[in-house]
Amino acid sequence: MRHANPGFPTGPAAVLVATLVLAAVATAVWGLSWWSFGVVLGGQIITLAWLVVDMKATDRDAKNVPLPSPDQRQKRRRLVAQLHDVRDAAGALPDAVVLLDARGNVRWFNAAATRLLGLRERHPEGSLTRRLAGSELGTWLQTDMAESATDMPAPADPSLRLSVTLMPFGAHLRLLLARDISTLSRLEQVRRDFVANVSHELRTPLTVIHGYLELLDPTDVPELAPVLGEMRMQSQRMRQIVEDLLTLSRLETREALPDEEVAMVPLLETLRREAEALSRGRHGITVEASSRARLRGSIHHLHSAFSNLVSNAVRYTPSGGEIVIGWRQTADGEAVFSVRDSGLGISAEHLVRLTERFYRVSSSRSRESGGTGLGLSIVKHVLNLHQSRLVIESEPGRGSTFSCVMEASRVLPPENDGSSRAEASPD
Ligand code: ADP
Repeated sequence: MRHANPGFPTGPAAVLVATLVLAAVATAVWGLSWWSFGVVLGGQIITLAWLVVDMKATDRDAKNVPLPSPDQRQKRRRLVAQLHDVRDAAGALPDAVVLLDARGNVRWFNAAATRLLGLRERHPEGSLTRRLAGSELGTWLQTDMAESATDMPAPADPSLRLSVTLMPFGAHLRLLLARDISTLSRLEQVRRDFVANVSHELRTPLTVIHGYLELLDPTDVPELAPVLGEMRMQSQRMRQIVEDLLTLSRLETREALPDEEVAMVPLLETLRREAEALSRGRHGITVEASSRARLRGSIHHLHSAFSNLVSNAVRYTPSGGEIVIGWRQTADGEAVFSVRDSGLGISAEHLVRLTERFYRVSSSRSRESGGTGLGLSIVKHVLNLHQSRLVIESEPGRGSTFSCVMEASRVLPPENDGSSRAEASPD
């Protein structure tokens, strides 16, 4: 690199000195003559031209690479040090960090990415998807590209489980983060097994106790009649809790449910009859179906989820209230099964937690109504397994609407409809 020189340039100076010496020699030999005058003039023209060229070059260099001031040099050193710190910190993270460019090629990765994803420095250039081809993560990158995926095997070591997040940033860049959740995943498995085993173990003794209680006739011991009634009710509640826990455990371990054609029109009628039976004339119950579309899914599980919502509407709506069971299609091809009631309603702070196990707005109200606190949790799981979602809208004192928004690929045209069946996506 060329630096600006504040002193007189050495080249032109040498020419000037040489010119003067030559002129002195010429004067000494020939006296003051045209020769000595010519030497001095020629030398000065060369010196001047050199100086102009040198100044221009110096000026150009100075413009291109300005000399940093001591302050700027210190700032630059600080920035470089910070950059190294950030890179070292990202390099030392236990999570795999991979920086991808707009075409999905790997720009940079840390040591954990080698351990968890198997990325190595020696790898040839290429997109991350190609490098991870054949692994579940590679397939996810190729097809889903959803923002995050939980619990998938690590490409470098399938015994490890990963939670992966893909974040866009900057100009079309993306950051892939993969966290080792093996311990968490194992604990979750232990919890699931524990709940399933306990529920299973409790099932038989509870059935026996309930059976004996049913055999006892309250008229034989009239003074114990109220106690007996309470015991029967509580043992029935315990059995229901155990059954719901077992249902949840089974749903949690399922990757997919059977794909059957569910005719919604007769199912809506069945749900209405069930609601009537539960309500025993206390509510006005109607069906509003603007669509005759069918569903692709598990008849048993969808029926159980929908009837859970209907039963909640009956249980949490005071006598004289209205319940509307709805079925419609949306403009973007989804279909919505809904249950609207004019009941107690739920305040906003409870809504987000409503599908948690045993979460109740009011435990006394739930217990009185014979609830287990597991119904909505089951509904959410069933819908997840149908790639669909539960939407809850409610206002205290005015009622609630629980909507099952069924994914478009799950919606089938009515049976006698001539048009071709809706595209079904693979599970
Ligand atoms: P539970 O068996 O207690 O009814 P769920 O999981 O079905 O359990 O519902 C969780 C809680 O949500 C209930 O305890 C109740 O407080 C509230 N809830 C559910 N459905 C309704 C509804 N239609 N109206 C008002 N509150 C409701």
